[in-house]
Amino acid sequence: MRHRIAVVGAGPAGLTFARVLHRHGYPVAVLERDPAPDARPPGGTLDLHEGLGQLALDKAGLLAEFEALSRPEGQAMRILDTDGTALRDWRPRPDERANPEIDRGQLRDLLLGPLDVQWGRSVTQVVPGTRDGTLVHFADGRQETFDLVVGADGAWSRIRPAVSSVTPHYTGVTSVETSLDDVDTRHPGLARLIGDGSVAVYGVNRSLIAQRNSGGHVKVYAKFRAPLDWHANLDLADAEAVRANLLALFDGWAAPVLDLLRHGTAFVHRPLYVLPVSHTWTHVPGVTLLGDAAHLMPPLGAGANLAMLEGAELAESLATGPGDLDEAVRAFEERMWARAGRWAEITTAGLERLVSPDPAEALAHFDQVQPS
Ligand SMILES: Cc1cc2nc3c(=O)[nH]c(=O)nc-3n(C[C@H](O)[C@H](O)[C@H](O)COP(=O)(O)OP(=O)(O)OC[C@H]3O[C@@H](n4cnc5c(N)ncnc54)[C@H](O)[C@@H]3O)c2cc1C
Repeated sequence: MRHRIAVVGAGPAGLTFARVLHRHGYPVAVLERDPAPDARPPGGTLDLHEGLGQLALDKAGLLAEFEALSRPEGQAMRILDTDGTALRDWRPRPDERANPEIDRGQLRDLLLGPLDVQWGRSVTQVVPGTRDGTLVHFADGRQETFDLVVGADGAWSRIRPAVSSVTPHYTGVTSVETSLDDVDTRHPGLARLIGDGSVAVYGVNRSLIAQRNSGGHVKVYAKFRAPLDWHANLDLADAEAVRANLLALFDGWAAPVLDLLRHGTAFVHRPLYVLPVSHTWTHVPGVTLLGDAAHLMPPLGAGANLAMLEGAELAESLATGPGDLDEAVRAFEERMWARAGRWAEITTAGLERLVSPDPAEALAHFDQVQPS
């Protein structure tokens, strides 16, 4: 019997879930708050790991298309000292496919394919256990009922309160993001500094990372330890004021490194929030969570990968399993919690070392995760 299934959120988790169900001919309602796929800038590049995000794309039948779009050379990573001296310069072998990069917009379009997403449908609340199933409330006042509602609606999930009272907390680290366009023609010196992939510079309680996206676009992330209200006397909408503030924060670093901030365009303020490392909940029939909604963790290359694999695995077990919806969801949750818990520990420890009072910790971390 086909169940009435809805997924809230068309990010990596929700779209992979829907695409794998679609592959199996299983209907699903995809409910997304954004009014259109390109309503907001899609964000930077993602590296998809062989055993996680790439496995999910394989389950969706999209691995060959991913391989054609992705950038294996983007795995290259250079580390500089704050005076600009190169400390590490790691380049992937030509056949290295462990973590190729793909732009978020390209990944979204790849996953969207034939899916019929319901754009502009902002969910405010779900109520499981009504006589007709799980009731979904929308911001426009409408309501619909489903047998299963999957919350793939990210960090500030409106579905999570149906299973858990836990909310994200601030890590103590803030990221301010800026970007550069046409870097190869407009800033050739910075293009050489960044190389084919990323360049990272680690100082005392702060770091600067620049990452190449496709088409000569570069995202720059300035991360630093600060109280949540560090910008109390700063207008975050005033790009020049934010730039001056960041240049003061990174004062004394090599000029070419600071040029990443000097030439950046708009600045996006992103305090890093997380859920507790082993966030679980007592199973509630008719509702579950995927991705950041279930296990928001520091952005160290795992979140989208886990979100996608979870989406693919839950979809597969619903589409091909013996048919007991609730048992399938329960079994999936156990597996998700165990794997996400391990990654939350790894990424939490990673953030401590990468934005640390001792920059040598960051280098040691790099050597551990990238030993070749
Ligand atoms: C700077 C940065 C770099 C990162 N780099 C990487 C990386 O290299 N590799 C990696 O694996 N991870 C990375 N991550 C983490 C990754 O972005 C997230 O873990 C991933 O996007 C989570 O996917 P998701 O689908 O669970 O949630 P999201 O991507 O947040 O998607 C949630 C969707 O739900 C929608 N939505 C929200 N609320 C509602 C509502 N009420 N009703 C309807 N729809 C709603 C949103 O509009 C959105 O489309 C990075 C994160 C950051 C911030």
